[in-house]
Amino acid sequence: EKISREKILRIAEEKNVEFIRLQFVDILGIIKNVAITIEQLPAALDGKIMFDGSSIEGYTRIHESDMYLKPDYDTFTIFPWANNGSCTARMMCDIYLPDGSPFVGCPRGILKKAIAEAKAMGYEMFAGPEPEFFLFEKDENGNPTTNTHDSGGYFDLSPVDLGGEARRDTVLALKKMGFEVEAAHHEVAPGQHEIDFKYTPVLRTADNIATFKFVTKVVAMQHNLHATFMPKPIYGESGSGMHVHQSLYQNGENAFYDPSDKNGLSKIAYYYIGGLLKHAKETTAILNPTINSYKRLVPGYEAPVYISWSTQNRSALVRVPSARENGTRLELRNPDPTANPYLAAAVMLKAGLSGIKNKIDPGEQTTDNIYEMSYQERKNRGISSLPSSMEEAIKYFQESQFMRETLGEHTFNHLVEAKKIECSVYKKQVHQWEIDQYLTTY
Ligand code: GLN
Ligand code: MG
Ligand code: MG
Ligand code: MG
Repeated sequence: EKISREKILRIAEEKNVEFIRLQFVDILGIIKNVAITIEQLPAALDGKIMFDGSSIEGYTRIHESDMYLKPDYDTFTIFPWANNGSCTARMMCDIYLPDGSPFVGCPRGILKKAIAEAKAMGYEMFAGPEPEFFLFEKDENGNPTTNTHDSGGYFDLSPVDLGGEARRDTVLALKKMGFEVEAAHHEVAPGQHEIDFKYTPVLRTADNIATFKFVTKVVAMQHNLHATFMPKPIYGESGSGMHVHQSLYQNGENAFYDPSDKNGLSKIAYYYIGGLLKHAKETTAILNPTINSYKRLVPGYEAPVYISWSTQNRSALVRVPSARENGTRLELRNPDPTANPYLAAAVMLKAGLSGIKNKIDPGEQTTDNIYEMSYQERKNRGISSLPSSMEEAIKYFQESQFMRETLGEHTFNHLVEAKKIECSVYKKQVHQWEIDQYLTTY
């Protein structure tokens, strides 16, 4: 349902909205705000609010830095916390240039392009994410630590589970904002949590992920905790992933379902899996975009390492959950919450569509636990691995015509450059592990 300009103005007045956060993400998926007052709302709705794009990561263009925010009316949502009785709302925005054309580097625009391509083929994509995160304590100066409340020392027994309360309040805040939260629970690691939301059309899902991270951080702060979406903050513990359940609908019906197939999956579903697997190595730089992401993608912590699919086991990259009919979907398990939600959604959708267009056969599913297979066994079955480092991921990324097309020259080039710098800075660091390992031995 489209919400009208008049309705937004009316609700804003009724609900005593004083500020509006015009939000968008930079190339790395970091949320940016231009906060305006209620008086500027009509101008904002007309797309007249400007900002300086040159200060936004990945937005710079030599001659153009004035950019315009064009809010998507449907994303008008009021944050559930009030300041002296007045409220703040958010709207997600598309980025436009002064000449009225959409900015090619806008991640939301890149996703919209992929959605339009799916639409032209007769499909609408739905996605449901399962973001995981850690809640950490702060030290006496208010700086985040990696200490979790529930792994506290022997004497740190406390009558309340701070993390559990923060998670509960996050869910309540999200619900008030119109999110349908399907599940929320403690995860395997100490201090680790997960909040799953119900699948929605993929553009909304990406908007929701961006807002979800923002809300989680705000609520954690209100509990004097720090929420982090860093994939692997603690050595030896599970990392934080963001599995993404995905399905295509065609003419209002789930296009992945076929009761006559032995797995209950349609040809379209198999091709989509084929596309996800075929493009897995080149898409990893987007789905797992930080150096730390690769410390999660190791055997032993329920995170995928090998490129395979399965209706049964969770060691596979693509798992097919058991729900059928309208619930038929695929779960891609490598994405983590540091991924730019718009770019991640765009590359997953495009990979799936590529599978459909090129009729890519995903091959036989893997029913055995791949972690327990030897290298030779994996080789015989044709199971290869995801890139094992950012550096390797960038290599596949940079050689990929598919990624260049999906993201557009501007974003593609900028990401290659930014990620290479990140790798080279990291490579020169001397880590504590090396000191511990070598300082006295040699
Ligand atoms: N934390 C695991 C990961 O990194 C997932 C655990 C789970 O949800 N089964 O993907
Ligand atoms: Mg889950
Ligand atoms: Mg989980
Ligand atoms: Mg899952």
